[in-house]
Amino acid sequence: MPVLVMKFGGTSVANIDRIHRAAKRVAVEVAKGYDVIVVVSAMSGETNKLVGFVNETSQLYDAREYDAIVSSGENVTAGLMALRLQEMDIPARSWQGWQVPVKTTSAHGSARIEEIPSDNINAKFAQGMKVAVVAGFQGISPEGRITTLGRGGSDTTAVAFAAAFNAERCDIYTDVDGVYTTDPRICEKARKLDKIAFEEMLELASLGAKVLQTRSVELAMRYKVRLRVLSSFEEVSDDAGTLVCDEEEIMESNVVAGVAYSRDEAKLTLTSVADRPGVASAIFGPLAEAGVNVDMIVQNISEDGRTDMTFSCPIDQVKRAEKAINTARDKGDYNFSDLVVDNGVAKVSIVGIGMRSHAGVAAKMFKTLASEGVNIKVIGTSEIKVSVLIDRKYMELAVQALHDAFELEKN
Ligand code: ADP
Ligand code: ASP
Ligand code: MG
Repeated sequence: MPVLVMKFGGTSVANIDRIHRAAKRVAVEVAKGYDVIVVVSAMSGETNKLVGFVNETSQLYDAREYDAIVSSGENVTAGLMALRLQEMDIPARSWQGWQVPVKTTSAHGSARIEEIPSDNINAKFAQGMKVAVVAGFQGISPEGRITTLGRGGSDTTAVAFAAAFNAERCDIYTDVDGVYTTDPRICEKARKLDKIAFEEMLELASLGAKVLQTRSVELAMRYKVRLRVLSSFEEVSDDAGTLVCDEEEIMESNVVAGVAYSRDEAKLTLTSVADRPGVASAIFGPLAEAGVNVDMIVQNISEDGRTDMTFSCPIDQVKRAEKAINTARDKGDYNFSDLVVDNGVAKVSIVGIGMRSHAGVAAKMFKTLASEGVNIKVIGTSEIKVSVLIDRKYMELAVQALHDAFELEKN
């Protein structure tokens, strides 16, 4: 039997009614003759609640216990979905990550999937099971502990299963009807894309467009998974949603494909650091070891052999970053005058494959922000993106202004 993977995000399984509705979608695909792997998220809000419990209990928590706690939301929805399907006379059972087993690295909180053996589930399909309901977001480490794949990780679970089972397609059901030129919740002119190239989706995701987890796009690109994003609230046709596909499958596209933002960023500056070989490594080595995801980095021109070093990271990693920096300083690895933390910044980025062959895109971005009176604090670029760090209060304004300036509402 051909295999189909269907993933339902938090809002699509937010209550018993929605689970019922999602189960009906699954039934439609079962009736077409597919063996279906359903991947579910926790009910919306549930993972945030669990993360909140962890933070209330322990600020610098043991990441193994964090995973034991925050993975639990998916267990509930997987069981409920299996029960619902059974009520509809569809042979189904739930699988927690360790039961499959979804083997991951031991990087708790952001583990990577290493292997998904297909024999257990295939044996059940062979015995007549029609739907395997898999708890998304979770796996098991080589040490036998429960791991999680990072926020939004159920998308990655879904794509990894699609690759492991050679699925015909991986359908990601969510609360919007596809991938848009930017988040439709903050820009009403956002336009739904019928298709988007893997590389553009990869950049948009990694720059904050949470409609797909970055790693899921990476895996889909590597294993050639046909990945579709669509709404669980609307009627589904064969060409519904957005197909994430190879660049060659897309006929025309704009220079800029989309605008992404990441709201919860922080900017940290170490002032008056000795400017000598090895200092960057002395600063960023311990940060990496502490699990801080350093993003943009700027080193200022040095004066009298001393310089300022600025970097950004997610706001919830600031405490870890401060601890790592102060510990390294106390050990005598380097010195600085002040550690200045700005918790009020956001990152806004434009993305497009067309930037490879068009000059002036960054200049137009800066001009647009200037005309809105938005000050740019840090700039970062790559071949197909330009990112800026700005005051968080201007974030939505900046996204809308850039969407207008690059005429993304037009095809
Ligand atoms: P799920 O719970 O189904 O995984 P998410 O909340 O993780 O859903 O992702 C869907 C959300 O992603 C949308 O509600 C939307 O606000 C947001 N989003 C951000 N950027 C985009 C974009 N470019 N296109 C579509 N949705 C986007
Ligand atoms: N429930 C997890 C989260 O909220 C995983 C997911 O929904 O993809 O991040
Ligand atoms: Mg998600």
